[in-house]
Amino acid sequence: MAIAGVSVCPSCGAVINIHWASCPACATALEPQAVPPPTPEQWVTSWRELAHLTNGIEKTEQQFHPVLQALDECDRAFLPNDWPRFQAAVEKVRRVVSERG
Ligand SMILES: [Zn+2]
Repeated sequence: MAIAGVSVCPSCGAVINIHWASCPACATALEPQAVPPPTPEQWVTSWRELAHLTNGIEKTEQQFHPVLQALDECDRAFLPNDWPRFQAAVEKVRRVVSERG
């Protein structure tokens, strides 16, 4: 995700990377910050994409069970708010769905 790891300088408001030691705009020393947790909107957007991706897959298709497994992984990553793991599981769903004929 492009916005992951981005924050705002508390001193001048410049957009900064959370891994930077100081702000390049005003040279203020920056506190190390935790990677921000995903917003509810990010979750909703991703779940919508998953619903869209998996729409219409029949039990008889060979992608059915791999997709179910990947969705289960999404679910397990969602519960502890584990965004990177969730994104990896979404990627797996995309890959499986792309194999449909
Ligand atoms: Zn600054």
